[in-house]
Amino acid sequence: MKTIPKVIPDSIAAASHIVLATHVNPDGDALGSLLGLADILHGLGKKVFAYLEEPVSSMYDFLPNCTIAEHDLDALQEFVRLAGAENVVSIALDSGDAERLGVAKDILLSNSPFLVIDHHRGHRPFGDELWLENECSSTGEMIYELALYMRADVSVTAAFCLYVAIVTDTGSFRYDCTSPRTLRIAADLLEKGVHPAEVAGQVYDNYTLARLRLMELVLSTLTVHASGRIGIISVSAAMLEDSGAEPQDVEGFVNFPRSLRSVEVAAFIKETKVGSVSVSLRAKGKVDVAAIAAEFNGGGHRNAAGFRFTGKSLAEVQASVLFALQKAL
Ligand code: 5GP
Ligand code: MN
Repeated sequence: MKTIPKVIPDSIAAASHIVLATHVNPDGDALGSLLGLADILHGLGKKVFAYLEEPVSSMYDFLPNCTIAEHDLDALQEFVRLAGAENVVSIALDSGDAERLGVAKDILLSNSPFLVIDHHRGHRPFGDELWLENECSSTGEMIYELALYMRADVSVTAAFCLYVAIVTDTGSFRYDCTSPRTLRIAADLLEKGVHPAEVAGQVYDNYTLARLRLMELVLSTLTVHASGRIGIISVSAAMLEDSGAEPQDVEGFVNFPRSLRSVEVAAFIKETKVGSVSVSLRAKGKVDVAAIAAEFNGGGHRNAAGFRFTGKSLAEVQASVLFALQKAL
């Protein structure tokens, strides 16, 4: 059991209305913890506004309650106004720094109390109250601990969402962040009615043809450096266009260069639209990619981190990333 700062459950217990938010380009943990907590809070009789900048991507629209997510910032402000600001608590999930909140950042942070629940190493504190667990596999795992602490009911819907969060952030219980506690919580979630084969099918065997075509294009960009210790792939805006895939469809592709036997650090350079390039880094233990990402104003974990640029070309970013990785080895 984690030591949860008491102010987190106390603030939630005292509020009638709760605003939830997570990071932009939400992954399985971001969406699973957001939707899982929303369901748990509904069970506690709270009114919830679960904010997402964009609609849930086709990769995650199997999450049972994903339609509750709202995208309209005017509606968010109206929710707070009607509730009375003093009755509202806002919570950011899985967000390593304030910038990760996207376009809603200032509106979200103008509300108080603003609670932050996160597990990122290199987290840069924001908001009023922080609950940070670097040793936790996922924010989904923390939300389960919070539900236990609050003696809140975890419905099969919430259990499903939290299980998706844990499975995706641990790479199906493969990464170092998987602890005995992670597996015990996963077992609890199965006892609440989650079917692991169903989740695995939805997460891993649910590709669109466009996504598989994009994978083909992206794999053909693979280059290896430093005697095979560095592997890099990239995606360009043109590849997205040609394949008909969505930007979110690249999730997990960074695992291809990482899967190479000789690779110690893998990078995936993503030009989602021209002039906007983001980078995913993965390591297998020796290199601390969170430290490399921090050099570029990004963040993340020791084995998985990222950062982004505006106004640089794919080739320029690739050159500076390769230089930084070679230096780190
Ligand atoms: P991914 O490569 O899957 O997008 O991200 C890997 C990890 O790095 C995640 O934990 C993610 O939250 C973090 N991360 C990715 N991009 C950024 C960024 O621009 N800033 C920060 N602070 N963290 C990032
Ligand atoms: Mn996470």
